[in-house]
Amino acid sequence: MAASLVFRLHDRGPEVVREVLLERGWEEYDQEEREEEDWNLYWRRSAFRNSEYHNLLPWQRLNHHPKTVGITRKDCLARNLRRMRATFGSSLYDFSPTAFILPNHYTRFLSEYNNLRVTRGSSVYWICKPVDLSRGRGIFIFEDVKDLVYDCSVIVQRYISKPLLISGYKFDLRIYACVKSFHPLTVYIHQEGLVRFATEKYNLSSLRNLYAHLTNTSINKFGPFYKAAKGTVGQGCKWTMSKFRHFLHSQDINELLLWQRINNIVTLTLLAIAPSVPSCPNCVELFGFDILVDVTLKPWLLEVNYSPALTLDCQVDITVKRGLISDLIDLMNYTFSDSLRERADRRHGYKRLCFRAKRPSHVPTPPVLSTFEGTKIQKRRSGGQSSQTLPPIKTLRQPEKTNQRQSRQDASGADYQRRLPPVDSNQIYATRGSLANETHRDKTRSLTFGPCSRTNASVVNRRTCPALAPQKSLRVSEVTSHDGTETEAETERSGEADASSSIRDTPHRELGFRRSKLPNIYSGSHGAVRMERTLNGQHVPPLRVGDFIRTFPFNAATLRASRHELDVMVVIQELHKLTAQLATPGERLRREEEEVKEETDGEEFDALLWGPKDPPLLSQCFKPT
Ligand code: ADP
Repeated sequence: MAASLVFRLHDRGPEVVREVLLERGWEEYDQEEREEEDWNLYWRRSAFRNSEYHNLLPWQRLNHHPKTVGITRKDCLARNLRRMRATFGSSLYDFSPTAFILPNHYTRFLSEYNNLRVTRGSSVYWICKPVDLSRGRGIFIFEDVKDLVYDCSVIVQRYISKPLLISGYKFDLRIYACVKSFHPLTVYIHQEGLVRFATEKYNLSSLRNLYAHLTNTSINKFGPFYKAAKGTVGQGCKWTMSKFRHFLHSQDINELLLWQRINNIVTLTLLAIAPSVPSCPNCVELFGFDILVDVTLKPWLLEVNYSPALTLDCQVDITVKRGLISDLIDLMNYTFSDSLRERADRRHGYKRLCFRAKRPSHVPTPPVLSTFEGTKIQKRRSGGQSSQTLPPIKTLRQPEKTNQRQSRQDASGADYQRRLPPVDSNQIYATRGSLANETHRDKTRSLTFGPCSRTNASVVNRRTCPALAPQKSLRVSEVTSHDGTETEAETERSGEADASSSIRDTPHRELGFRRSKLPNIYSGSHGAVRMERTLNGQHVPPLRVGDFIRTFPFNAATLRASRHELDVMVVIQELHKLTAQLATPGERLRREEEEVKEETDGEEFDALLWGPKDPPLLSQCFKPT
């Protein structure tokens, strides 16, 4: 039997992550019982330290990419989107309300404020938000500049004063986007999400009533009408995205363009930071995008959350967040080998070998052949629980060469792969106890551990793929996780509400992450069993995983544009085309479709349109009717 995968939660949360992982047969990390490096996933709400990225080992993954503060802090987001607008024009970058960072841009704000007062007949409203707070704290809305009072850094933003209302209540959408990789950029958006309502009717004559103007659950769950039935909204303050879709249908609203615009917002926002995020193949990030839809059905980006709240306040939360986390784990593509390689690695000291850039001449070359006989895969628990035994595995390691080129390779992923015991879950299961050494050894020459995963098919759906169903029933964690480490960026934030703005990022660029030289365990390019597609030699990430729909790359051109250095201009052009196609189906679409076909030499690139129920293929959306 394989050892369980091990997760490590900072500060004992979020509970839903623990529950989902335990259900799937994972074990919780306990520092009393396990070695420091004996975990596969480390989840924390706040930022990781530089050293944690720096020391990451190949089987370990973190739930944050470094250097994403450029979109997750309100002032950085405003600055970056302004830069993108200036560079790429406002026709696509028109989705965030005009914003000013105060006190620095007070004069600019004042000039805009005065201009609008003169040119607009109707009132103009503004919203003031502290840059480093979340959950609606410190926010107020004003019309007259004399009401603008602040004692910290804030952003003042145009208030979207004509939001789409449901039964007279304001709402916003929480969209969950997972950046599986920044290099190459690979983005998935979850089909489920939250619709979060204000709990008092929208009314511009009472700007101070936060229950009418803010849609934060952390505020509204304490409102006097939280439990009251509120027309179509019902009780509470949340809907699932599915219910919202249903609502759109009932209103005969053409939703496709809305979904595509939201999709664009996510991509365009990520483009603002993608080129500057260091490559960290073992990191994944779940962002919460907050989108407000106005009365003309135009979506506006309010903010991007770094650690979207995962608390389970109500049934809607349970439905949405449990499915979300479960799909996220599938998307992370853990393989059987994740639970094997670490033990073999530790036992045989590969870690030291694989990361040393240069072997001193007096250190002897390690033996060529290593044999693993009955490797203990788990540190014996103090409670006397039994450890498990693996079948013997033989592996061939290349003898070291001492020339300079080879020394450089010592620290590289390629060399690292050669040194690790090659493990292939399928082989081990198939030949348990009787691995044919010669056959196996032959294979090891070309075999590197990789995503021979159950989730590597181009379409994986939790519901239709029983292999992905929870393997164990829920059980209570046997041990209490205690993690005393704190990041520099750790703040007063506690609980599990959204975290966005107060995340400080630390300078990572200079580090030259060791991890970036390691094999990309997501890429599929090293897989022993390659179930996933390639296009013109480039790996095509799965179309969907559970309810996560791949939204980037979305065509052959964007796949190519993300191959090496991300070509932001090409991506923007493609998004532009796509949105135009959705808006104006017809002859032009057929032409563009043909062009794409030509570019890819007839190879088709599938992408789904994120958003609608049963998302259609993009190519189907564009078929002229
Ligand atoms: P926080 O991080 O504190 O939640 P947000 O930017 O998400 O800050 O704002 C909180 C709430 O205020 C939003 O959920 C939304 O209801 C409302 N809001 C924020 N900005 C705007 C805006 N520009 N126009 C209209 N409503 C807004």
